[in-house]
Amino acid sequence: MKVKLYISADIEGVAGVVHSEHTTRDGREHDRARMLMTEEVNACIRGAIAAGASEIVVNDSHGTMRNIIPELLHTEASLISGSPKKMAMVEGLDETFDAAVFIGYHTKKGDFGLLNHTFSGKVVRSIKVNGIEYGEFGLNALVAGHFNVPVICVSGCDRLEKEVRELIPEVYFATVKQTINQFTARSIHPKKAQELIERQTKEGWMNRGNIPLFSIDGPVTVEMSFNTTGFAENAAILPIVDQIDPSTVTFNASNIIEGYRYIRSLIMIAN
Ligand SMILES: [Zn+2]
Repeated sequence: MKVKLYISADIEGVAGVVHSEHTTRDGREHDRARMLMTEEVNACIRGAIAAGASEIVVNDSHGTMRNIIPELLHTEASLISGSPKKMAMVEGLDETFDAAVFIGYHTKKGDFGLLNHTFSGKVVRSIKVNGIEYGEFGLNALVAGHFNVPVICVSGCDRLEKEVRELIPEVYFATVKQTINQFTARSIHPKKAQELIERQTKEGWMNRGNIPLFSIDGPVTVEMSFNTTGFAENAAILPIVDQIDPSTVTFNASNIIEGYRYIRSLIMIAN
């Protein structure tokens, strides 16, 4: 029987990454950051294989979703890259997986934490599900939970660790840098970061029975605040959406998967 690991990989939380020159397609340091991101994913894969994983799917979850360098990726993993994807940062995740790991993640918009944002720094101010605000970690973890897949390990900055532990205290976390401010951090060496990710993934995998599912059953009410009133007005064109104040809309969905797809759609419509 195959034992399957799902990896969602972002770039802002990778050791050494601090600036838009690392994270944007035309940034002069972007190619270097892509290599560091790929190596952190490889470390996660090594840890999972050492602990018994036999099938690994990696979803490139940042920006263009074409960041991971295919020929540098561990040979035992397959890679989902490119966009658009209906489920964006959790495309391809389903109930056949035994565990998920989120690599290179960052805090939600407006929180302390290096390069904090929620899906779109330009468009989104906040996203609440059933009254609780979540960042990318929380929303993606809820999708995993819907499919009965535990998130066993996460990597990123110290501020993200705090955000993650408020939702899943038992998760294994690889703290690869300390946030100093939104655009400044103190990173451990990339090789040390990779060793830490490999170790934490392996530990998380071996102890995954002790890590609870993070999920919401049934219908959800989503509230999205935008950075401009114009974005909210664009979003409110969709008939399921109500505008409840100048920059905020709300809608209901039958479950978190439908809610997630509406969130992604509204970000595109708003912009
Ligand atoms: Zn990103």
